[in-house]
Amino acid sequence: MEKLYAHAHFHAAHRQLDYNGKCRFVHGHTWHGEITVQTERFPRDEKLDITLDFGRLKDILKGLDHRMLVSERDELFLNPDVFEPEGVVVMPGLNPSVENVATYAMNETVDVLAKHFSEQGIEYHIEVKIQETDNNIFTIDRTVTI
Ligand SMILES: [Zn+2]
Repeated sequence: MEKLYAHAHFHAAHRQLDYNGKCRFVHGHTWHGEITVQTERFPRDEKLDITLDFGRLKDILKGLDHRMLVSERDELFLNPDVFEPEGVVVMPGLNPSVENVATYAMNETVDVLAKHFSEQGIEYHIEVKIQETDNNIFTIDRTVTI
């Protein structure tokens, strides 16, 4: 079994709409993300004998650095007259919670694998771990065949 592991810190802000507590106010964290992909043997580039560039996975996390993480229903931050679109990343789901940031990173990882390894019928086991604070950590596991 082979394992590819990428991790990165990113500084990002969010707020939880309709949340009855302090998390409804805009606040930031220094997040930490880890993406692990396992498979029996990764396909290699024939000339270089290299598999997926680690940077491709790290970029998923680094793409969230110094951004406002929002849900699709956050009309204020999605209004280009109020906030620069470049500074905003839309998370899946109703709120940019740690659960949905992990889902975002999982979906992006599946996309990167699908683009890089396209339809070879290989099974990959992906684990994404997102740490919002010392105490808030969320992980997702998914097995996909690409
Ligand atoms: Zn938070």
